Amino acid sequence: MRLILMGPPGAGKGTQARVVAEHFGVPAISTGDIFRANVSQGTALGVEAKRYMDAGEYVPDDVTNRMVRDRIDEPDAAPGFLLDGYPRTLDQVEELDGMIAHTGHSLDAAVVLTVDPEELVQRLLQRAQTDGRTDDTEDVIRRRQEVYAEQTEPLIGVYRERGILVELDGMGEVSAVTQRIFDALDVIPQS
Ligand code: AMP
Repeated sequence: MRLILMGPPGAGKGTQARVVAEHFGVPAISTGDIFRANVSQGTALGVEAKRYMDAGEYVPDDVTNRMVRDRIDEPDAAPGFLLDGYPRTLDQVEELDGMIAHTGHSLDAAVVLTVDPEELVQRLLQRAQTDGRTDDTEDVIRRRQEVYAEQTEPLIGVYRERGILVELDGMGEVSAVTQRIFDALDVIPQS
């Protein structure tokens, strides 16, 4: 199974990604988590990424694409993967197409979680108090929503045209959203 999970910041991607990946027996690959791990280890990649993350901007495509390519090449991703937070730009869509074509497979589904904008901000402000992420301040949260609308929302149309878009309601209990994802994906033929 080769899946991507999309949705605005606060839609619950990370939470759902872990459960859904486990259900399908594939690794959940979160670009945000890999960047944060690099930031906390103080690597060159982390130093570069932090500037963008703290401003609510996207890390440049060449840096992000290279990082994902390396991760997907690891043996545990050979049977499939769930990408959480990638691709986020049209350039990344193209790069991912190339990476998958190279393996002789194709993307099975692009899941998008939709959540009311005000609910998103509330969820992120709440997360700010529990997780202490440096990009969960109100200004940065709003900037991240704008960047998502400008750069990532257009990807929804791309995957809809390909016939692999699965648009789901991300509101309500975490377990109810998980069930919606399972119900939608369990009937999809895997490549
Ligand atoms: P996330 O944990 O998915 O909210 O990502 C946190 C931050 O990491 C984002 O606001 C971006 O600065 C950066 N990031 C994560 N994924 C990507 C991506 N696919 N392209 C560019 N930047 C990304």
